[in-house]
Amino acid sequence: MSVRSTVAPLKPPTPPTTRLAPSPTGALHLGNARTFLVNWAMARRSGWRIVLRMEDLDGPRVKPGADLLAIDLLEWLGVDWDEGPVWQSADLSPYRAAMDRLARAGHAYGSDLSRTDVERLSADLEGLSAPQEGSHEVRFPRTLRPAIDETTRAQGFDDDARTWRFAVEPWEVSFEDRFAGMRSYDVAEIAGDFIIWTKQRMPAYQLAVVVDDAAQGVTEVVRGDDLLDSAARQILLYRALGLGNEPRYTHLPLVRGEDGRRLAKRHGDTRLDSYRAAGVGAERVVGLIAFWCGLSPGRVSMSAAEFCAGFSLDTMTRNGITFGPEDDAWLRRGDR
Ligand code: GLU
Repeated sequence: MSVRSTVAPLKPPTPPTTRLAPSPTGALHLGNARTFLVNWAMARRSGWRIVLRMEDLDGPRVKPGADLLAIDLLEWLGVDWDEGPVWQSADLSPYRAAMDRLARAGHAYGSDLSRTDVERLSADLEGLSAPQEGSHEVRFPRTLRPAIDETTRAQGFDDDARTWRFAVEPWEVSFEDRFAGMRSYDVAEIAGDFIIWTKQRMPAYQLAVVVDDAAQGVTEVVRGDDLLDSAARQILLYRALGLGNEPRYTHLPLVRGEDGRRLAKRHGDTRLDSYRAAGVGAERVVGLIAFWCGLSPGRVSMSAAEFCAGFSLDTMTRNGITFGPEDDAWLRRGDR
C-alpha cells in the first residue's frame, strides 16, 4: 500500500471568521451601528473573514425591506464583508437535522406546555412567582420535563407544532470573554430547559445561531452583552451537537439612554436612516461611535478606515455607554 493512500489529506486551516448578524426586525440604530463597527474593525485589524448573515427567522417580527436597508446602511457606514449576505430563512434543513440529532441523543424533547402553564406549574412546584423583572423568559424547571426514554429518542424530531426544548443539566458553563473576562453561568438556574424550536415550526434563536456559526466556520462572536448568558446556552448546544470548538466571545456593553435602559424608541429616533435622511454624514456617526469607544477624547468626525486604524478593545469604556441629547445635537450640527 502506498504511503499516499494511508495518509489523510490535510484539511486547509479554517481562517478565523466572524459574522455580522443583523435581525431585520427593525431599523438599525446607533447601538447596532456601534456593535457592527467594532466587530468589523476587530475583524479587519486581525485578518478575520467576515460573513454577513440575516437573522430573519423571527417570522412575525421581521419587517419587509429591513434586510436590504440594513445592508445599505452598513455600506454607507463603510463596513464591508467577505461572504454573504446569507438569509437564515433560505434553508431550514440544517436546523431540522440538528434537531433530529439532539432528539435522538436524548437532549431535546417536545412539550405541550404553554408559557402560562409553565408559569403556573413552576410556581406550584418550586414556590416561584413571576419571572424576573425585565426578562421575557419563563424559566422551565427540569421537574416539568417529560421522561425521555428509548422510545421517544427513537422517534427523533417531529416538527409537530409543539415547543421543543433542550434538556439542561445543572452544572456551570464557564468561558473567557475577550471583553467581559471569565464568566460562569448555571443555565438550569437561569433559563432551565430553554426553547430551541418554536410551535410556529421555526428554529429558535439559540439553535439557529449555533448551527450557523458552526456551518459558517465562525470562530469569533462579537455582540452586545445582553447576550452574555445566551453564550452559555450556545456552548451547551455546541457540545450536545458535537460541533467542536466553540467560538471566542466578545460581549460589548450596550448603548443605553440616560434612564439606563437599552437604546430604544423612547430615547428618540436614533435610526441610522433617519439621521442619513436629515443630512447627517456617515463620518459623523462613526465619529460619535469612536468617542463612545474611547478612540478620541471628544466627538470628531472620522471615516470607518480611520476608526479601524485607531480601534482597540483596551480603550473601550467599561462603564457603559450613554446616549444623550448632546450626542444627537452634535450629530445634527454638521461642522467638523
Ligand atoms: N441577530 C442578533 C441581534 O441582532 C444577534 C445575535 C448574535 O450575534 O448572536 O441582536
